[in-house]
Amino acid sequence: MTYSDNRKIRIRELKVFAHHGVLKSETLKGQNFYINAELSLESDAQDVLSDDLDQTVNYAEVCGFINDFMKENTCKLLERIAELLCMELLYRYSPVNSVELEIRKPEAPIDADFESVSVVRKMSKHTVLLSMGSNMGDKHEHLDRAIRLLDSEKHTRLICESERFVTKPYGGVVQDDFVNSALMVETVLSPHELLNFLHEIENSEGRTRQIHWGPRTLDLDIVFYDDLVMSDSKLTIPHIDMQNRLFVLEPMAKIAGYYRHPVLNRTVSQLLEELKAREEA
Ligand code: ADP
Ligand code: MG
Repeated sequence: MTYSDNRKIRIRELKVFAHHGVLKSETLKGQNFYINAELSLESDAQDVLSDDLDQTVNYAEVCGFINDFMKENTCKLLERIAELLCMELLYRYSPVNSVELEIRKPEAPIDADFESVSVVRKMSKHTVLLSMGSNMGDKHEHLDRAIRLLDSEKHTRLICESERFVTKPYGGVVQDDFVNSALMVETVLSPHELLNFLHEIENSEGRTRQIHWGPRTLDLDIVFYDDLVMSDSKLTIPHIDMQNRLFVLEPMAKIAGYYRHPVLNRTVSQLLEELKAREEA
């Protein structure tokens, strides 16, 4: 069972005059939009009990921000403005874990008798553990750039990197030593969106997929995504071989030794100890 106490801030029917819509008349003339938002916050009662506005999310400020964002950006689709706004809210207000947004458009140009049309989007932050490695070229530089790229987009934020380990190659191909580390990141991307983003970063570092387990400028793998368990043709989470890889477990134990594998029901530290024992035997 997961702990589920939380706090929410609700904003009801915030009225904003803006210019979203597919029709030219909509973008020119503008119309009223009504926004319902629910922001779920990390439930740290200490913050609330301090009775200090700086320690929480100021809803007057959130209303002002939503108003300005709706006015300053123009989108054809409500889906798009809802997507962008959710992402911005999660990025700006770090205590907010998830946002549910409804954008209503009661004056939509529809030739029918209706009350309103609306789009609803819910977006949450996820905690992800990544394993990263390089064994070609300037290895540290590849890792440094990967981190900068990861942190450069609003959808993903670096929490921390472990120390870096120099490790012997795995899988039997003769090649140079690796530099490996583990990263903890926060993201609003889905697992597949995140994998695509990681592939873009690998590609921008000149990664080509030639020999399986062969040399690479940059390898970025998803090890854990919250406590999600999933598998399809492109992606297996938790990473299918992490429990057999010292170069994954050793750095990860430095930043997330307590993290529990949702299938093996062992913490990262326990998996590391067990692997070391197997390798010694
Ligand atoms: P490896 O990381 O095992 O050395 P690659 O980096 O070449 O190998 O990855 C091969 C494929 O593994 C990727 O294209 C991806 O679709 C798939 N894959 C499956 N699960 C994961 C995961 N958890 N993280 C990253 N890639 C994964
Ligand atoms: Mg990989």
